[in-house]
Amino acid sequence: MSMLNRVNELIKTVKTLKVKDIFDIINAYGAFTLDEIFGMEEEKRKIYLSRANICLNCDLKTENRCSIEKKGICVVDFKYKQEYRKKGRKYNGCGCSLNVKQSEPSQKCPLGKWENITELSAN
Ligand code: SF4
Repeated sequence: MSMLNRVNELIKTVKTLKVKDIFDIINAYGAFTLDEIFGMEEEKRKIYLSRANICLNCDLKTENRCSIEKKGICVVDFKYKQEYRKKGRKYNGCGCSLNVKQSEPSQKCPLGKWENITELSAN
């Protein structure tokens, strides 16, 4: 299968993505390769790609890290670890490696931009 066909297969997983988004995700984090993304179980791949696409446009993204030195505006009221975070307030990033965080369903964005999938499915 050609590279473009493989990219189009990935796009089918998250229908809002475009070819450029897939290449931006691969280039932006210096983390997973196309083969590694393609090799993920389908549900995990969907979660990873949709989260990676959100982080691409976030000011806290610093290479493959959610910068603990930068602050960003929280987008929802929610509980993050032991703390209740308020929409509109500023908080630091978590310091995590983004590719690891994005591909682990139980993780959540410290600004509420994406959710813990396991909590969502439990409700
Ligand atoms: S995890 Fe959240 S705060 Fe961190 S880079 Fe991604 S979108 Fe931004």
